[in-house]
Amino acid sequence: MIGLISVAAAGAAASARLAAARPARTRRYPGPAGDAVRGAVAECDQLVCFLATGATVRLLAPLLADKTTEPGVVCVDEAGRHAVALLGGHAGGANRLAAEVAAQLPGCAPVVTTATDAVGLPGLDDLGWPAEGDVAGVTRALLDGEPVTLAADAVWSLPALPPHLAPDVPDAPDAPRRRTLAITDRRLADAAPTDVVLRPPSLVVGLGASCGVPEAEVTDLLANALAEAGLSPASVTAAATVTAKADEAGLRAAAARLGVDLTTFPAEELAAVPVPNPSPAPLAAVGTPSVAEAAALLAAGPGAELVVPKRKSAMATCAVARRRPRGRLAVVGIGPGARDLLTPRAGAELRRASVVVGLDQYLDRIADLLRPGTRLLASGLGAEEERARAAVAEAAAGHAVALVGSGDAGVYAMASPALAAAGADIDVVGVPGVTAALAAASVLGAPLGHDHAVLSLSDLHTPWAVIERRVTAVAEADLVVAFYNPRSRGRHWQLPAALALLARHRPPGTPVGLVRAATHRDQRHRLTTLDAVDPSEVDMMTLVIVGNSATRAVAGRMVTPRGYRWQA
Ligand code: SAH
Repeated sequence: MIGLISVAAAGAAASARLAAARPARTRRYPGPAGDAVRGAVAECDQLVCFLATGATVRLLAPLLADKTTEPGVVCVDEAGRHAVALLGGHAGGANRLAAEVAAQLPGCAPVVTTATDAVGLPGLDDLGWPAEGDVAGVTRALLDGEPVTLAADAVWSLPALPPHLAPDVPDAPDAPRRRTLAITDRRLADAAPTDVVLRPPSLVVGLGASCGVPEAEVTDLLANALAEAGLSPASVTAAATVTAKADEAGLRAAAARLGVDLTTFPAEELAAVPVPNPSPAPLAAVGTPSVAEAAALLAAGPGAELVVPKRKSAMATCAVARRRPRGRLAVVGIGPGARDLLTPRAGAELRRASVVVGLDQYLDRIADLLRPGTRLLASGLGAEEERARAAVAEAAAGHAVALVGSGDAGVYAMASPALAAAGADIDVVGVPGVTAALAAASVLGAPLGHDHAVLSLSDLHTPWAVIERRVTAVAEADLVVAFYNPRSRGRHWQLPAALALLARHRPPGTPVGLVRAATHRDQRHRLTTLDAVDPSEVDMMTLVIVGNSATRAVAGRMVTPRGYRWQA
């Protein structure tokens, strides 16, 4: 629950706005401030105070006991310009809350001051994985530039980690014992109290039971199985069983105690999974020779390994599988040029990656957004296929990869060759970007106000006969058309040829817009007509938009009417 505390009218209006946006998660505490803060701390896990930071600090101070239970607190100033994460930035979720509050209040910016966020190191407790040990100490060591040993059992698709967090960073002479950050689902006998163990979501348990099994029996069986196999319950990310046991209370409760959902599979699906210990009893009872082992393997996905074969108690069975970590490929459009046209989501994906792949000129554009330690795979023009394959190979090796393209990365760009080469073994996310046609259109006016087509005039990968046929179809259909790749040093005649095809179906005075380097600092544009285009003004940084028979120049802007009756 989020407690909203306001005393003045301005704060009350903003508070009402937040409450309306999330009625189920918020509770309002009107003044006086002291009572409101005390009430909210007692009843809520997060607070948004429409108060000065000083006043909030004084009111909160006597109420704060220990860091693990304190609330996440965000202060918003009277004018609603800043949402300051004041307390519990990571553990209390205040950093995230500050961002959410800022998003709800127009003109409000989040202010986050916890060290890991401020200097661009990944907040270790922000990964959302259970962490054991001295998180604050290891974080401080990393911030101080001390080498920390990374000991990971597998390649997880984590964001870039700082260079001094690595398996084999050399020690300074006379350095004290260095700390370790372990990423493992194994219980570590030799972890020092100064180390951190992160628990990746790697283990999936399969459960079977007879009707009426008590929860304690399932929980004990599983706890013993994990303990004997030297595995941590904190890495258990899912539990699974057969559909027939979906409502078995003991199984549900055991899963809930682990904090995971109970997934179910039909018996036929389980029966198809090869397992080491099939048996006739479940085959007779529910129609599959294995429940626990098959459900664990199936829920854990392709490439999973059975780390605890079936174990039995009087009324329950369990087995544990380890998932193969999946790499992540984000296909990220970085927009046409201007930094503020790179979407927040694209920025987040770039910071989420440990490997960024793209054309060198695009990587230059975004270098400052990346976490320190991010690996760059840059290439020059013309190596698209190779670059796409490199990105997919990195993701297949388990890394978090961002493949970047200007505009939208799926429009005449890298997404298709990459996804044509990508298998089902990686996760793929796409982040749309503002493509050149939209950027150029906004410079020219409203040329795309009615049906339009997008064509590339590059005949490097497409035979000219095909391009010609498409241009002719567009001309006959009276569509507005945006030409990408209209001209380059080696390709001069294609644009005049395409314009000539259009001229057969459109009046000579049809508006044509040329936009070079849209949204870049050296952006230029010209509005001309079909009979007056000067192709020498067009280069490979230019987008050409040709109007349809209704497009007009209005006050120097290119406008295509929107109505369907414009020819009547
Ligand atoms: N994926 C890109 C397009 C790549 S094709 C996108 O979605 O925008 C390259 C062509 O796009 C260039 O030849 C040019 O025609 C056009 N282009 C890309 N960026 C541009 C910009 N900022 N201004 C004008 N045209 C641009």
